[in-house]
Amino acid sequence: MVKKSFEFEPRYSDIEQGIEERKNRIKTLCFKICSKCGETKFIFKFSLDKRNADGRTNICKACRSLEGLNHYYQNRSKMLRQNKEYLKANKKARSIYSKDYRIKNKERLKELAGKWYKSNKKTIKKRNLKYYQENLEACKRRRKLWIEKNKEKIREYNREYKRRRRLKAKESNPGKQEGK
Ligand SMILES: [Zn+2]
Repeated sequence: MVKKSFEFEPRYSDIEQGIEERKNRIKTLCFKICSKCGETKFIFKFSLDKRNADGRTNICKACRSLEGLNHYYQNRSKMLRQNKEYLKANKKARSIYSKDYRIKNKERLKELAGKWYKSNKKTIKKRNLKYYQENLEACKRRRKLWIEKNKEKIREYNREYKRRRRLKAKESNPGKQEGK
C-alpha cells in the first residue's frame, strides 16, 4: 500500500502551534494553579465544584483542609470564650432558674434520682467505699460533726423507728404481743 501524499505542504509553524495548543489544553485539563498557595497541582488535588467553569475549586484540597482546620480552631477558642463569658454574666439568673426548676420538678427529679441509683447501685457503693477508704480521717470527722449537728433529728428518727417496729410486730403477731 502506497502512502497517500499530502495535497498541501503544512507549514512547520502551524504544526508547532497545534502541538503547543494541545499541550496547553492537556495542561489546563490536568493541572491547575491553586489561588492560595500558587502551586501548580494535578487536577484531582482540587475538589469538585459545579459553580466553577472547569468543575473544580480554585483552592487545592490541602489548602482547603488547612483553612478548615484554622477556622475550626479559631472558632473553637472563640466559642469557648463566649460560652464562659455567657455563663459568668448569667450566673445569678441561672442559679435562680435552676433553683426554681428543682422546686418545680421535685417529685420528678426524686424519681429520676431513685431510678439512677437503683440501676447504678453497685458502682455507687463501690465508689463510695473507695472514697471512704481513701479519705478515712476526713470521713470520720465529717460523720462526727454531722452527728453533733443532728442530735435531735437522730433521736427523733430512732424513736420513730422503734415505734414502727413495735407496731409491725403487733400487726404480724397480735396474739403473742397481747399475751406479754
Ligand atoms: Zn494550595
